[in-house]
Amino acid sequence: MSPLYPRQAPPFKVHWNWELSLACNYDCSYCGAHKEDSPCLVLPVERWREIWEGIHAKYGCCQVRFAGGEPTIYPGFMELVGMLLERHTVDITTNLSFDVDEWVAKVPAQGIAISGSFHPESMTAEEFLRRLLALREHGDRLVSACMVGYPPHLGQLERTRLLFEGQGILFKIIPFSGVYQGRRYPAAYTEPEQALLKAQVAGSRDPLGQAINKQWQDFAAAPEDDEQRKKLKGRLCRMGELYAKILPDGKVLRCCHPEAGALGRITDPDLRLYDEPRPCAAEQCSCWKAMLVGSYESQVDRLWQSPEHPARACGIGSSAGAAP
Ligand code: SF4
Repeated sequence: MSPLYPRQAPPFKVHWNWELSLACNYDCSYCGAHKEDSPCLVLPVERWREIWEGIHAKYGCCQVRFAGGEPTIYPGFMELVGMLLERHTVDITTNLSFDVDEWVAKVPAQGIAISGSFHPESMTAEEFLRRLLALREHGDRLVSACMVGYPPHLGQLERTRLLFEGQGILFKIIPFSGVYQGRRYPAAYTEPEQALLKAQVAGSRDPLGQAINKQWQDFAAAPEDDEQRKKLKGRLCRMGELYAKILPDGKVLRCCHPEAGALGRITDPDLRLYDEPRPCAAEQCSCWKAMLVGSYESQVDRLWQSPEHPARACGIGSSAGAAP
């Protein structure tokens, strides 16, 4: 059945960024997202089914990207993912602390990408790689890995990148955003640290990984008044039309920036996305992959990929790959 409101612009598919909860079973020293006591909407899987069937009726097959917090500790998470995969495709950013054997037994292997987030304070790179490979080897799950460029961890970045890339795994380097030794990053990266990061990006073996890493790093290094990347107020953006962010309490935003626009609640049967690009209302964009009309189009293949749905329910616009 055709969706009620098909998307008219590439990637012709809505990307939902679902921050299920900010809770995490790790306590990494560099993490600013982890908050145990933040409100979190917990619903039975059957209620979520109603909600995501309603979204499918409006927009067709969507890409649902889980972020957090650690999404896999959400109650009934494997059942939730299995239900979503009936109609949508899924990408999960996870620390891989879950039981991989149980996951392989319970969660379908098609239409899903795993974006492994490596945290060296909690797991060795070798164990993390073992888990990622186990997920890749069973079925056709797409996998990638990432690591935060936290200053005390920069010394192990190259070894870790080469370990993962040696297995053909796309490796992303996330600029550290936060305070270390009283200095606010990423602006506080020293020249040697910047040179090290640049060398790691230039050394990325996968051309897609290199392009993603460079764009992310260039955004992090750009000054606050950069009119191409950060001072975007008033510019037409397709976030809110092709992308939306679901917060842990169920509130739906146009994008990650709370000032850019709110769309309603995920439980609202009348929830609607914009049907056209709208001017950005935020003083300063915080997203390195904003969907600015006139520039995002050339980046769709690079930044807005998603797995194929096994039933081809996604129709046009989907392509294999793990999106950043
Ligand atoms: S330009 Fe940035 S802040 Fe504004 S709507 Fe787009 S992504 Fe959001």
